[in-house]
Amino acid sequence: MIAVVRRGASEQQIDNLVAWFHSRGLKTNISKGDIQTIIGLIGDTSKVDIDLLEGLEIVESVKRITEPFKSVNRKFHPEDTVVDIGGIKIGGGNFQMIAGPCSVESSEQILSVAESVKASGACLLRGGAFKPRTSPYDFQGLRAEGIELLLEAKAKTGMPIVTEIMSAAHLHLFEKVDVIQVGARNMQNFEMLKELGRSKKPILLKRGFCSTLQELLMSAEYIMAEGNPNIILCERGIRTFETFTRNTLDLSAVPVLKELSHLPIIIDPSHAIGVSRYVKPMALAAVASGADGLIVEVHNDPKNAVCDGAQSLTPEQFDDLAGRVRRIREVITNEQ
Ligand code: PEP
Ligand code: MN
Repeated sequence: MIAVVRRGASEQQIDNLVAWFHSRGLKTNISKGDIQTIIGLIGDTSKVDIDLLEGLEIVESVKRITEPFKSVNRKFHPEDTVVDIGGIKIGGGNFQMIAGPCSVESSEQILSVAESVKASGACLLRGGAFKPRTSPYDFQGLRAEGIELLLEAKAKTGMPIVTEIMSAAHLHLFEKVDVIQVGARNMQNFEMLKELGRSKKPILLKRGFCSTLQELLMSAEYIMAEGNPNIILCERGIRTFETFTRNTLDLSAVPVLKELSHLPIIIDPSHAIGVSRYVKPMALAAVASGADGLIVEVHNDPKNAVCDGAQSLTPEQFDDLAGRVRRIREVITNEQ
């Protein structure tokens, strides 16, 4: 349920109304926009008397939210959420490129990729330390050592780092990580989502490859319901009957999620397509669709990568892509 506050209401009146909601066991989410202030109500709103609320002097209107996702719903928070990663902003017109290898392999590898993608305009460095592999016999990542190597690359380049968590029990290892990624396979690891909701770290939440957009938003709701609003949604391809590509990139996720939610949405063309020569056209299409960013796999030597070499761009290919992305962004920004 949301209560739209009448223009000109004083802070004191809003505080009193919020206190009244709290006294009824409801949680509130206040969204102060340039035009409207909206109080979102979370909890059992069935006992709230809508007529009584609408009769209050400071309340303009009251609406029930029928969707099961509440805090992440744009009706709760009409303005775009801007996630701030140490001054690097994503969302609300701020576009960012995240790039780096699938897996951290060595100090030399991660530093070399970090330096080259930074020079091409990427603002955040990705790299997997804990790798979710289909086979238990495949490389599982350098784990804690991988995070140390990412932090070393961060110290040398100044780039904030993004890396995947696979278990809430590892959270202590992520203290200095700037953005925690929840991978497609863990999108519905609800206990982990709750734990991440209690941390204040920005979370990059990837869509499960068999999940609907509503299920993605419900997973984001788990994080936000625990108090963490710093969520970036990521479409990374879904499983369809097509076999020429690793997954099918569902670009319709961008306009649909932007309408349904205030959270930023970025695209991972690498895992969506799985073939490096298809990454560029789909990355450009993603930018044109209005996505708030890209996360792209880049490797200094894709042929010898321990993981996902077939979909990784070389630093030169990424540089070419980044230049084209900037040109499309210029067109989009000038049109707004
Ligand atoms: C990754 O980003 O390295 C990864 C494993 O992604 P996903 O969870 O989308 O498969
Ligand atoms: Mn990968």
